[in-house]
Amino acid sequence: MEIDQRRLRDDLETTASFGAIDADDGHGRTVLTGTEADQQARDYLCERLQEAGLEVRIDAVGTIVGRWTPASAEPDAAPIAAGSHLDSVPAGGIFDGPLGVYAALEAVRTLQETERALDRPIEVVSFTEEEGTRFGALLGSSVAVGERSPATALERTAADGTTLEDALIEIGYHGDATIDAAAWDAWLELHIEQGRRLERAGTPVGIVSAITGILHLDVRIDGEANHAGTTPMAYRTDPPAAAELVLAVEDAATDLLAESDSVVGTVGRLEVTPNATNVVPGTTRLGIDIRDVTAATMTAVRQRVEETLARLERERGVETTLRETVAIDPVPMASRCQEALHRSAEHTGIDAPTLHSGAGHDSMHVAAVTDAGMLFAPSKAGLSHSPAEWTDWDDCAQATAVLATALADLATGSPAD
Ligand SMILES: [Zn+2]
Repeated sequence: MEIDQRRLRDDLETTASFGAIDADDGHGRTVLTGTEADQQARDYLCERLQEAGLEVRIDAVGTIVGRWTPASAEPDAAPIAAGSHLDSVPAGGIFDGPLGVYAALEAVRTLQETERALDRPIEVVSFTEEEGTRFGALLGSSVAVGERSPATALERTAADGTTLEDALIEIGYHGDATIDAAAWDAWLELHIEQGRRLERAGTPVGIVSAITGILHLDVRIDGEANHAGTTPMAYRTDPPAAAELVLAVEDAATDLLAESDSVVGTVGRLEVTPNATNVVPGTTRLGIDIRDVTAATMTAVRQRVEETLARLERERGVETTLRETVAIDPVPMASRCQEALHRSAEHTGIDAPTLHSGAGHDSMHVAAVTDAGMLFAPSKAGLSHSPAEWTDWDDCAQATAVLATALADLATGSPAD
């Protein structure tokens, strides 16, 4: 599949100019939902979709879909959809989101030119507010999968008091179409990796097996604060206990690598009270982050935390409490989509490794209602959410070729012409 790299690059560079920020190094942009930059990015996308002959519709929360019905397709057949998002974090990069949207459009334009006989319509999608800076993360996809009603989403309010409904009316994107992700036969999202695995492997494409789950535990260890000079070692009830827990998290995750090589455990927050050099601390609070692509290993790390806390209570006389503050299950990608992507990479002449996503994406929501797959393009030095975010244009084009081939594969049952 021959991608027009120049055309893809033009679309991405034009999109990068909306909300562009001054950056000493690299190319940054700030595109928050409901702002002028958001309106410009959306207007440009709608123009480009219409130029390519796609029928555009917009739902109540501003998610944009362009539909292409090839002459060979059954118009009422469930479409294959692909896309990502156009919003950014403040001072974010130019590839996170737009690459997936414009790769999907470029894939459609390429398929139109190859005159491949597809059985199904293809839809190009841009979800509203993936990053969540103003109104909450993964917002457009939460509505498209029915997890949240449009009315509830529209009531969401930014820090400045603006509701999502007002923000969308202001920029002309409070639409009246219904976008139902469950009606898609399958979904694919091309995204930048936001890690260094592809760069290290020297390959332009990786195929995602699963999106990692996240567990956050808030732990409190209570002992007795006392004078550091006058309290003998034998008479202390204090949190070196906390140090044991930090090491237990590291040990648990390291031990479990034998079962799952993607498990990670982090104690990212440690607060010692009163935090004075000459006082035996009375209370220590720890914030623990556990992630993996299988729930079983995440649960196993959590169990080790609980066992360690029970032992510390017995052996050190401290009191402990544990509270779960975030619990997101891992989301596997559909094997049908992974297989189509692997066949397509092979057909394109790319040896694409399988990897997992350590970050959340709209595909997590879509996977709950239909077959979903993701592919990654390399991130230079693993950087993202920053003007230093970069993916080489050749890599963008190669990943787009794999996406286009996979869309044809899903819409016909074969990667080849
Ligand atoms: Zn993104």
